[in-house]
Amino acid sequence: MIKNNASISFASEMQSLQMGYVDQLKSMFPEIIQLKNALTQKNSDPAKTERLSRLVHTLSGLGTTVGFPMVSESGRKLSGLLLAGEKSPAGDNDARHQELVRYLEEFEKACHQVILNETTSDKGNHAMETTSTSSESQSKIVCILAKEGRPLHDIDKQLQHFGYVVSCTSNVEEFKASVAHLNPHAIIAYSDMSAVDVEMLKDLPQSENKRSYPPQIIIISSQDNFHARLAGVRLGAHGFFPENTDVIQIVDKIEHLVAKFSIPPTYHVLVVDDDDVQVRFYTHVLQTSGIMTTVIGEPHEALEVIANQSVDLVLMDFIMPECNGQELATIIRQHEKYVSLPIIFLSARDDLEQLLINTGLGIDDFLVKPVTGDQLVSVVKSRAQRSAELQVLMARDSFTGLHNHAHFMDMLAMELGQVKRFKTSTAYASIDIDHFKNINDTYGHVAGDHVIKSLSRMLQQRLRRSDIIGRCGGEEFGIIMPDCTLENASLIIESMRLQFAEMAFKMDNADVRVTFSAGLTALAQFDKLDDLIKAADKALYSAKNQGRNRLVVV
Ligand code: GH3
Ligand code: MG
Ligand code: MG
Repeated sequence: MIKNNASISFASEMQSLQMGYVDQLKSMFPEIIQLKNALTQKNSDPAKTERLSRLVHTLSGLGTTVGFPMVSESGRKLSGLLLAGEKSPAGDNDARHQELVRYLEEFEKACHQVILNETTSDKGNHAMETTSTSSESQSKIVCILAKEGRPLHDIDKQLQHFGYVVSCTSNVEEFKASVAHLNPHAIIAYSDMSAVDVEMLKDLPQSENKRSYPPQIIIISSQDNFHARLAGVRLGAHGFFPENTDVIQIVDKIEHLVAKFSIPPTYHVLVVDDDDVQVRFYTHVLQTSGIMTTVIGEPHEALEVIANQSVDLVLMDFIMPECNGQELATIIRQHEKYVSLPIIFLSARDDLEQLLINTGLGIDDFLVKPVTGDQLVSVVKSRAQRSAELQVLMARDSFTGLHNHAHFMDMLAMELGQVKRFKTSTAYASIDIDHFKNINDTYGHVAGDHVIKSLSRMLQQRLRRSDIIGRCGGEEFGIIMPDCTLENASLIIESMRLQFAEMAFKMDNADVRVTFSAGLTALAQFDKLDDLIKAADKALYSAKNQGRNRLVVV
């Protein structure tokens, strides 16, 4: 037992170390690229060399310990060379420069690999493969072309806060190099939409390891008129904003644009049919297209599966032993929760259409046997997708895109059931922004909205895909963290609390800091949903009473 506890606490300590390291690397990465580009173009620049030495030294010191030996190895080689160059600047020559370029590239590659590993959740080499970290969150890469002398409104820093890896420069050549090298998800170009700018943007380099989508281009233009916008459209820009646009709007646009890079959803289809041969055909065809299936031969088992296994669509034979499809569909539809669950009938009867119209049951589709595999997959996918989109609209808070309160509570109840059944550890956090009323009163409601949206974006970026985030009130949020110990959850909430407190919100030309308080608890301690919510709220109030900007765990 003791050994177990010791290894758990070692693992969580390692996890927190690794998280901190990756965050640090991500925040240093853009500067490393800029310094690398500068030193690659020019033989020597003592100030830049010294700055790079310092960054490399910081990262290579801890790399091996936290599971990234390549950063340490390449970093040490590079440090050695940078140091030698500083000591004997007269030794600058072509061979030495080439060596430096090679080492710089190796180091950049090692750093990039850490970030990519995080993005693709390649957990093979990570010390904490089964614990909950932010390492499954999606680190998206953005390259920014700034304009000399024009303010960036901190967009680079803001994007970093939201978890993006950002490379920002006002030098066109550096910008092109980072686009070619980093294969960014999005590009933000500050532009006056002059012919020169347009020509340059038309001609961006291709990255070697292209993903299936090219970078999404967003233009922030000093000119906002028809011609500038038309030039943007002709460039294939995906977004166009005037220069004084609020950063959060741009972040929203990027989020929306890069959503397509995410893994496509998998659907779960319940097949109700007692004919073995048919069932084998359906499941084979659907599974080959990446659709999960559960098969039952007895209609009376359907409700239980629908209730417990989050079914996206029901595919049923019309003629079955216990009851017919129409009767089963009626029973399913009697449950309010399932009125919009898509149901597709399969039947050999060619009078099925008329029969279904007569029932008025709201059946989504019917397929008359024999059905081809392509037909089946196409109908199932399109119905499941439409239904999933509708579900999202119904279950989301329209302002933040997070789960709305009612839906979030349903999910929390479901999660509590899972924890009881499978004895897993899931954490629940209740978060509330501190003195939010003051922000509204001092800087206005729009400024308050901006803070709410920023926090919700940060939560989305920092948490795992499997975590569930809800907007439970105006400036109140709930987070369900499945498969996460209280200890790990507390590390994650703490790191988000610190990060949020560091964000500077520009309000009336001042840098305003905002904080949140949080209460955290583990689901396993409770049998009833009410008790769970009360305990988390109590912990939150206790955090408020102790002075706010803190986390209380119960
Ligand atoms: P505490 O630290 O104790 O949480 O203090 P507080 O001021 O944050 O708490 P309180 O609950 O008194 O105030 C919350 C305020 O949030 C009141 C309400 O007007 C404001 N609010 C609620 N929803 C929204 C919203 O969508 N946008 C904005 N801007 N304000 C909102
Ligand atoms: Mg409140
Ligand atoms: Mg509050």
